[in-house]
Amino acid sequence: MDMKTNNQETLIDNFNRVVDYVRISVTDRCDFRCVYCMDDQVEKFVPRAQLLTLEEIARIAKAFTELGVKKIRITGGEPLIRRNIIKLFEDIGKLPGLNELVTTTNGSQLARLAQPLKDAGVKRINISLDSLDPEKFKRITRVGELNKVLAGIDAALAVGFKKIKLNAVILKNRNDDEIIDLVRFASERDMDISFIEEMPLGVIGDHDRAEAYYSSDEIKKDIEEAFTLVPTTESTGGPSKYFKVTETGTRVGFISPHSHNFCDQCNRVRLTCEGRLLLCLGQEHSVDLRKTVRAYPGDMEKLKQAIRGSMSIKPKGHEFNLTEKPIIFRHMNVTGG
Ligand code: SAM
Ligand code: SF4
Repeated sequence: MDMKTNNQETLIDNFNRVVDYVRISVTDRCDFRCVYCMDDQVEKFVPRAQLLTLEEIARIAKAFTELGVKKIRITGGEPLIRRNIIKLFEDIGKLPGLNELVTTTNGSQLARLAQPLKDAGVKRINISLDSLDPEKFKRITRVGELNKVLAGIDAALAVGFKKIKLNAVILKNRNDDEIIDLVRFASERDMDISFIEEMPLGVIGDHDRAEAYYSSDEIKKDIEEAFTLVPTTESTGGPSKYFKVTETGTRVGFISPHSHNFCDQCNRVRLTCEGRLLLCLGQEHSVDLRKTVRAYPGDMEKLKQAIRGSMSIKPKGHEFNLTEKPIIFRHMNVTGG
């Protein structure tokens, strides 16, 4: 279903939700192997020919902005390890009608790329950081170097990025003892921080997800041992519930797919690196945009038709259940977190 207002189309699904936010995964590859995201033996990455080219991604992004999308997040896998990725940021950054171009990264390449990203028009960066202890950091990411990420965070601050947000996935007995330190680290640098509950995306051999589950409510309780949290009504157009730390002014967000369902306000869709437009993170409903973009090169209207059509199959919500086997066999690196 679609609607025209002032010549600007709007994407609206069958539940009357306006879709104005697209998350684009530009690669399933990554220089880290986080235990909650990938199996350590993943050597089955998407073959190159099946990946959307950067030009195809830019064309799809353009179609979305012509359909009223205001915010695009570039993610992955690790988006900043894709070759020539800055060119894509530059192309998307120039699209009229787009209010916010943002990205999510593990930070490993930021020391080198923070300035080019800023120059390309990226408004905000989310950086994943689960631990401030180099050994624990390595255990969670399997191969990541904490120092490189910290240098990346410094670079992002130095080139003037504001409202940087840290993302931390908290796992019981892995990093649940670092929650307060992470809030302090964010506060000292005037950054926000969101805590994410692990989601059952893809089969992982590392740990039992139900056992490792550490709820947002527990995290909040831990933070309140050191800080005062006051609820805010602010929203960044995402599923985070935000609180303000009275002592430091930092915002702390909680992304709680298990304990708080946020589907009724869902405003987003996701494009996988293979060009599958996923209508819900926790369901398989999708439309193959790669087929359209390759069958009709240069035909923007065909692409827009496919996107408009997808709105009729956007599901009402996800059905995550930690104690059962994952019903979603895509890993987060493929889907785009
Ligand atoms: N590589 C980049 C990064 O790590 O920020 C971008 C992609 S990553 C898939 C995006 C976010 O998804 C990260 O913050 C990561 O912690 C989170 N993530 C990955 N797998 C997850 C899972 N199973 N449950 C919850 N969050 C997950
Ligand atoms: Fe890579 Fe990000 Fe997944 Fe970690 S969470 S393995 S950094 S894609």
